[in-house]
Amino acid sequence: MPEGDVLLRTARRLHHALVDEPLVVADLRWSGLSELDLTGRRTTEVISRGKHLLHRLEGGATIHSHLRMEGHWWVERRDQVRPGVLRSPDLRAALATTEWAALGWQLGMLDVVDTAQESTVVGHLGPDLLGPDWQESVAVDNLHRSAQSLGAALLDQRNLAGLGTIYASESLFVQRLSPWQPASAVSEDALQLLVRRAQRLLKHGAEVGRPSITGDPREPTYVHARSGRPCRRCGGPVRVSAIGTAPRERPMFYCPQCQGGLGPDDDGRPQRPLGAR
Ligand SMILES: [Zn+2]
Repeated sequence: MPEGDVLLRTARRLHHALVDEPLVVADLRWSGLSELDLTGRRTTEVISRGKHLLHRLEGGATIHSHLRMEGHWWVERRDQVRPGVLRSPDLRAALATTEWAALGWQLGMLDVVDTAQESTVVGHLGPDLLGPDWQESVAVDNLHRSAQSLGAALLDQRNLAGLGTIYASESLFVQRLSPWQPASAVSEDALQLLVRRAQRLLKHGAEVGRPSITGDPREPTYVHARSGRPCRRCGGPVRVSAIGTAPRERPMFYCPQCQGGLGPDDDGRPQRPLGAR
């Protein structure tokens, strides 16, 4: 699932392509939106908020989208969009100025709200790690008050917004923290360092365009997607186990040796590297 770094880059790309120009195409293929006519409206800005995208138009309307698992936005020159592309059932949104087209594919969520009422779609989010209004102390406080495990609390967008499984697992590994311990049992100092680490990694990912945690382009992560392979710090096997409560469990990659032991649902049986037979 795309994380905050991808959303920030997507927002910047859409903003750059569409800002200040009127929409000549505004085709929203979503229940309840197909009749809505937004053509002629100018884009005032496109921003990300955690993993959400807010595309603001003059006249006080906001197109809100979320990528969920598979979604993405493409930007290309309008005269280069092939007609067949527009007939694809995976296309959920086509927005275009005279020069540029933004195509939303397999979006997980799409709606249009009054700009003044954006809180109805993003008001539940905690402070945005990449936002201009980031509030570290609020995020630390939210984590500290959480009744969840630390890993699940980091992934809960109500505590702080922008992290998914890659940056959560990598931040926990770098800070040598167990994902499975109760978030409330972790000192505020350690939570502050964790949140700062996560923010630094996410910002770096947004700058370079991909997660780049280790600095090694061949193996950019320490633990994410590396189960069954040796930990780059201690040499022990990296593992993966589910975190969170059903039906919202997520995979959490970790090193039991570096991060305080096996997770409660991890039986410790050997795990093969991903992709190995
Ligand atoms: Zn290790």
